[in-house]
Amino acid sequence: MTKAVRIHEAGGPENLVYEDITVGDPGAGEVRLRQTAIGLNYIDVYQRTGLYPLPSMPGVIGMEGAGVVDAVGPGVTNLKEGDRVAYAMLVGAYAESRIAPADRLVVLPDAISDEQAAAMMLQGMTAQYLLRRTYRVQKGDAILVHAAAGGVGLIMCQWARSLGATVIGTVGSDEKAALAKAHGCEHPIVYTRENFADRVREITGGKGVAVVYDAVGKSTFEGSIASLQPLGMMVTYGNASGPVDPVSPMVLAKGGSLYLTRPTLATYIASHEDLMATAGELFDVVLSGTVKIEVNQRYPLAETAQAHRDLEARKTTGSTILIP
Ligand code: NDP
Repeated sequence: MTKAVRIHEAGGPENLVYEDITVGDPGAGEVRLRQTAIGLNYIDVYQRTGLYPLPSMPGVIGMEGAGVVDAVGPGVTNLKEGDRVAYAMLVGAYAESRIAPADRLVVLPDAISDEQAAAMMLQGMTAQYLLRRTYRVQKGDAILVHAAAGGVGLIMCQWARSLGATVIGTVGSDEKAALAKAHGCEHPIVYTRENFADRVREITGGKGVAVVYDAVGKSTFEGSIASLQPLGMMVTYGNASGPVDPVSPMVLAKGGSLYLTRPTLATYIASHEDLMATAGELFDVVLSGTVKIEVNQRYPLAETAQAHRDLEARKTTGSTILIP
């Protein structure tokens, strides 16, 4: 038996049930992990509420974790018992122990702790593909990052700054503005009291930004489009304020022949090669000190419901982990 957090039906944080489950032995191509730290991500909220439904119910939610291999299934050659590993985008993370496909796990360098890994695999690999692949940020670009003091946000600010971009970021409070600024966001905007699109025009001398990274969704989409320079790239990659309404392609013409994409990390790490290259580039920027992973909240796994309440109430900053 192992402790896990499951949902039996979609709903509020009260639907997160801390209970015993059976994990069993790994099958062909799989390993069993004893997890030491689990990452909390906004995507977990979408799973809990049913926006991104689980494959079956009842189910263990959560997409990210780190731990130690404690059993190896038939045919696995890349991992052995005792290896320290981490992963992202594998549903079923909120548990003391779990089964995982061996080819989706990344062996951790000694200098990256389990807590750091659980805090950064999903948010950090997301920052990697957004900044390096979806739109390849160039020195001198002005860019807009929403929720700049959040988990993905703080990593994006530091990484983009190191690439030579001028980072404009939106945040929900003055405290978050100070935090974002300390992490490379040169121009934080408190979007709960200022019109961010107007401020972006002011900051860029009327030009607009080359790219907007928007995971706030419904409440910011329009302002994000209005913040772009001609031929700019609108990257809508999440729904913290709700899913974006359907949009007419004419909006892109009016904005100046804009590009629109709705990416997901799953696509960018679908192949084993892409997973390893993405994780490798993330490890490089963390090991060199270019990007610091800020674990600003820790909760016991048994208190996951409180962690969800705080995340949804916009009380958290940086990354959050659950400790089994
Ligand atoms: P965050 O730590 O960024 O938390 C979400 C933040 O969104 C809040 O702290 C808050 O910051 C802001 N926010 C704005 N409006 C609302 C609202 N109405 N309700 C709640 N929060 C709001 O979370 P993560 O770093 O885990 O994820 C950030 C976003 O990136 C999420 O939308 C997530 O789904 C998306 N994502 C997408 C991926 C992809 O590949 N497509 C992969 C990973 C994450 P503030 O108070 O400053 O406004």
